[in-house]
Amino acid sequence: MNLDLPPAGPVFLPGAAADVPAEPTDLCLVVAGGKLLVRGDGGFHRVAEVPGDDDTGLVPLGTLDGVAVWAAPHETADDTLGDWRGWRELAAGLSEPLAALAGRALQVVTWRRTHRYCGACTTELTDVPGEHARRCGNCQLYVPMQLSPAVLVAIRRPAPTGPAEQLLLVRHSYGPTETWALVAGFVEAGETLEQAVRREVAEEVGLRVDRLAYFGSQPWAMSGPGVVLAGFTAYCPDPEIEPVVDGRELTQARWFDLDALPEALPPTYSISRWLIESVRVG
Ligand SMILES: [Zn+2]
Repeated sequence: MNLDLPPAGPVFLPGAAADVPAEPTDLCLVVAGGKLLVRGDGGFHRVAEVPGDDDTGLVPLGTLDGVAVWAAPHETADDTLGDWRGWRELAAGLSEPLAALAGRALQVVTWRRTHRYCGACTTELTDVPGEHARRCGNCQLYVPMQLSPAVLVAIRRPAPTGPAEQLLLVRHSYGPTETWALVAGFVEAGETLEQAVRREVAEEVGLRVDRLAYFGSQPWAMSGPGVVLAGFTAYCPDPEIEPVVDGRELTQARWFDLDALPEALPPTYSISRWLIESVRVG
C-alpha cells in the first residue's frame, strides 16, 4: 500500500458547510436506522429523487468531485422506498471513496440522532453552523462530533523450525466468531496509539511486542458514530512464549505459518485483511 499518493478516481472531501441551499442535482444519501437507501442501479440518489419533498432536514457531508453531498435522515427504513443496506454490505460493494462517503453519512446521522441533549444540563442542543457540532444554549457546552480511535496489530514471530515466519490470529467471543482476526481494541484516554497496541496485546494474549510500525488507517462505520482504525505491524521478541486468551473477549489465539493461513479471514474491504495480506506476501 502506498500511503503517500492520493487514490486515482473520484475525490471525496468531507465538509459541513451549508451556506448554499441544496441543488436538485446534488447527491443525497438517505439514512435511517443505521442503514442507507441505495438506488436500483446500486448508486446514490440525487436531491430531486429523494422520497418526501421536505429538504430542510438535509445534513451537509462534503463534496464528491466538486458536487455537494447531503444526508437525508429518515425516521424509519421504509421497505417500500427501496433497498436499505448496512455498513458491511456498503463497504463490501462500494469502491473508495464511495464507501468512505457512505460511512460518513451513517456516522454523521447516527451522531446527530444520539447527541440531541446537553450532557451537563439536559437542555436540547442546537446545531453550530458550518460544523458537525452542537451547542447548549443554556450552559454553552460545545459538543463536537468526536471520533474514537482504535488500533489493530499483525504480530509476527520466527517459526519454531525453519526460516519462515508465523502470524498471530485470534477468534473473538462476539461478532463473527469463526473469523480469524487480529488483536484490536479502543485507545484509552491518555494513551498513544503505540501504547494502546502494547496494552491490548498484553491484555488479550499475554504477549510482548516490539518493532512496532505504522501500516495505515481506515474510517470504520460499524461500531458507533465514529471510529477510525489504525493498523500496525509488530514482532514478538519471545517466540517461545505461547499466547494465552482470557476466554471473555477472545476464545482462541494461534500462530499460523504464513503459507498456511486459515480460510476464514476478515473481509477484503477491511484494514484487518489488508494487514494480513501484506504480511502474507512479505
Ligand atoms: Zn447545557
